[in-house]
Amino acid sequence: MLTIVAPGQKRLDDYREVMGEEAYQEIKDLAGQLAGKRVLHVNATANGGGVAEILKALVPLTNNVGLQADWAVMKGSQEFFQVTKAMHNSLQGTAGHWTREMWDLWRHHNELNAEELGTAGYDFVVIHDPQPAAMLSFLKRKNPTSNGRWVWRCHIDLTDAQMDVWETLRPFVELYDYAIFTLPEFANGGLDGPEVAYIPPAIDPLTPKNSPLAQGAMDRVLADNGIDPGRPMIAQISRFDPWKDPLGVIDVYREAKKTVTGLQLVMVAAMAGDDPEGWVYYEKVLRRAGEDPDIHFLTDHHGLGNDIPVNAIQTKADVVIQKSIREGFGLTVTEALWKSRPVVAGNAGGIRLQVLPGETGFLASGTQEFVQHILYILAHRDEAQKMGKAGKEHVRRNFLITRLLRDYLRMFNRLSGNA
Ligand code: UDP
Repeated sequence: MLTIVAPGQKRLDDYREVMGEEAYQEIKDLAGQLAGKRVLHVNATANGGGVAEILKALVPLTNNVGLQADWAVMKGSQEFFQVTKAMHNSLQGTAGHWTREMWDLWRHHNELNAEELGTAGYDFVVIHDPQPAAMLSFLKRKNPTSNGRWVWRCHIDLTDAQMDVWETLRPFVELYDYAIFTLPEFANGGLDGPEVAYIPPAIDPLTPKNSPLAQGAMDRVLADNGIDPGRPMIAQISRFDPWKDPLGVIDVYREAKKTVTGLQLVMVAAMAGDDPEGWVYYEKVLRRAGEDPDIHFLTDHHGLGNDIPVNAIQTKADVVIQKSIREGFGLTVTEALWKSRPVVAGNAGGIRLQVLPGETGFLASGTQEFVQHILYILAHRDEAQKMGKAGKEHVRRNFLITRLLRDYLRMFNRLSGNA
């Protein structure tokens, strides 16, 4: 039923060089005050999407510094994930029709998962996003006091949330002790009850996805997929999801190709386990791409992890695009910046923390703006290189997993009443 994920082991010492001595010592000190404390993270999928990506690193690192961390993935039927995807969309601003049955289904699955999940003995339970957000309400009913401190980590931008959906969800998350959003404006109207903090996500610089890749491995990815290394390439790495605007990416490529002869577009997409909409959207994207031999799809149909292709394309692309209309943060942007690539990305949500216009890339809205910035980067290679370097440093300072680990440890200390 409910799945416990075992994400392997990681050692903080391996990150010491990249994070720097001061940050390393701070983590040691913070963790020292929490030795042996038990932490449980709960989310909706073990593979695909940014949350799973973060937990794969955060959970083992938390263990390595002396706490005991577990990760559980909630279980749900196909219908449940259709409802939670609709909820996700409504919370990001698409108007949708909500029925009582949908809410009942959501609550019912949360109740089933809550019954199964043994949270007794945990000092801190971190629930990610709306899918499992109602579990606490059922646990509180059974046992109002002895369930540790509960944190709701919302990765979504609620700025334009459909209000009836947010208002229905809100009382469930107001039961928590603490809530984390990426940016203050995401917490639409705020919350009564939990203490609220703003913490951006982060990437693991030492995974196969984010470590330097051997030239041979990169060449193989290009060759296997018919991509010509001698011609310019732009790429978007993203689930097939309307918010990531893959159809718009194809329009941008077609427009840019009028100026850049031989331009190639690569679209890398894994299918996330909690995203049934992905398949439907994939077909739409294929239709828009038509027979164009210079549009390459690297699609991981099983969502089992395509780290090496993602790494190779992020490293080799002349420009990485992230044409999101709405984006909580956009780990794909962080990953591309970390590979010293200039990024042209939608002027949305957490992307703004990462893409500093003219410094680490460009923010854009419509097709023409995207095209203009892409053409500029392709025509100014020296400047592109400088931006790439600045982007990498920006990530090193602000968006590495060790900074996120530090923020969680600070929060756990705060929740424990430690100084
Ligand atoms: N990703 C991947 N393979 C793919 C597409 C995406 O491994 O084919 C990863 C990507 O590298 C990133 C995460 O999935 O780490 C997506 O996170 P992001 O925050 O960009 O978007 P989300 O999918 O969570 O909305």
